[in-house]
Amino acid sequence: MKKGILWGFALACLVLAGGRPASASDAPLFAEVTAAKTALTTEDGVNVRFTLTNQGASDLFVLQWKTPLAGFEGDLFAVERDGEPVPYTGRLVKRAAPRPSDYVRIEAGGRVSAAFDLSAVYDMRQPGTYTVRYRAVGLEVVREDFRARQTVSEALDLLESDALALTLSGRDLRGDRPEGEAAPEAADGKALTPTYLNCSNGQISSIGSALANAQNYATESYNFLVGLPAASRPGDPRYTTWFGAYDSTRYSTVQSHYQSLKDAFSGQTFQLDCDCASDNTLYAYVFANQPYHVHLCGAFFSAPATGTDSKAGTLVHETSHFTVVAGTNDYAYGQTACKKLASKTPKKAIANADSHEYFAENNPFQSIHGGGATDKAANCAQYVREDPPYDYSYVPKNAWLTKTWYIKNCGTATWTTSWGVQKLWGNACGSFNFTKSTAPGATAKVWATCFLGTAAQYEVHFKVKTSGGTTFGDEFWFVLNTR
Ligand SMILES: [Zn+2]
Repeated sequence: MKKGILWGFALACLVLAGGRPASASDAPLFAEVTAAKTALTTEDGVNVRFTLTNQGASDLFVLQWKTPLAGFEGDLFAVERDGEPVPYTGRLVKRAAPRPSDYVRIEAGGRVSAAFDLSAVYDMRQPGTYTVRYRAVGLEVVREDFRARQTVSEALDLLESDALALTLSGRDLRGDRPEGEAAPEAADGKALTPTYLNCSNGQISSIGSALANAQNYATESYNFLVGLPAASRPGDPRYTTWFGAYDSTRYSTVQSHYQSLKDAFSGQTFQLDCDCASDNTLYAYVFANQPYHVHLCGAFFSAPATGTDSKAGTLVHETSHFTVVAGTNDYAYGQTACKKLASKTPKKAIANADSHEYFAENNPFQSIHGGGATDKAANCAQYVREDPPYDYSYVPKNAWLTKTWYIKNCGTATWTTSWGVQKLWGNACGSFNFTKSTAPGATAKVWATCFLGTAAQYEVHFKVKTSGGTTFGDEFWFVLNTR
């Protein structure tokens, strides 16, 4: 499946059943933040406990990334001091697709909890009255639906705890730690030589190209937004796909973000740190208040140079997080979730890192003036939907499986029967040709028939290929368990 497609399905059901999207009040999950001590000094640790309770009748599997259960990987709390928001200073991580071990099981009626020092990830150096509230948008929850005999994954619109009040007395510690210092700007607009930490020579050379490509992405995005005639802005598919309904204020905010990105790539010294290169579950991470220091991880090095979730796009994503650049957050990951964010909450989309990445990558290509044929790429394939069995559901061992996807030909070339589907990787299936032609604009029904043996899980990824064997467009896949 494509990241997040089941989300859409489950959310639609929730809206129909409940009359409104899931919220803290009707979700089976209850989040709570507590502290043994609420009167502290600025020199103390701000020790709080986060507890997630499953109030439902069936076991749930919760994706830990948007909880502090396995550490902080994003801005998960709304922290205020005397009514003013306090900046998040922890890691902002771009992750690869989740694995089973990224989910925590919470039994029906059970709870999980974690304790941590909140001052390690939020700037709480000043004395004052703080309020602390857990606030997660799009928390992913998986449960078994025994009646439908399938696994259902849903994303909660918002899960929020009550606010916890804490008073910090004592001295202001802001003078004790130096703020992140911005590097000097180059006068000629050319990128300054980046510095590398923990990187091999091969990694250094691939990062060098990625920086050049990221600079091109940022410049092209900026020029596109500036050059788009005002009359075309409300209907522009590229802008509205990633940033939602047009509004002149939001548009100029987005434009200023790409200007800052372009200026950063051309004028700042980046510090590229390969300290997490052996972790394939992560693309990269940064600290928003440590500008131009980007930690690059395993998934970054195996990503394509350009295109969806590419090396260059990842650098756009990470750089947008820096407070001095665009100060983006991670409200949604992946193309499907980002499109949904744009259509539901444009205000969040224009503050979301992956939305900036996908706009810059512009894949599938979307033109300036409403997708005219002359602007389109010849080869373009867009995932539309798929038939069951859905990912992570169970299918029989030692049996044939037919899995069907619907893929739109969004390019200008006709897919003939000498074109087809290329297996990219996986432990079953092969590649095959189409059985009929698909004209530009039409949607092809694509199915793979594969024998599944005795392995516990089968995962296979595919792309559309030309008659010459070149693959392009959206990746589609299945991950199925056997029994
Ligand atoms: Zn991020």
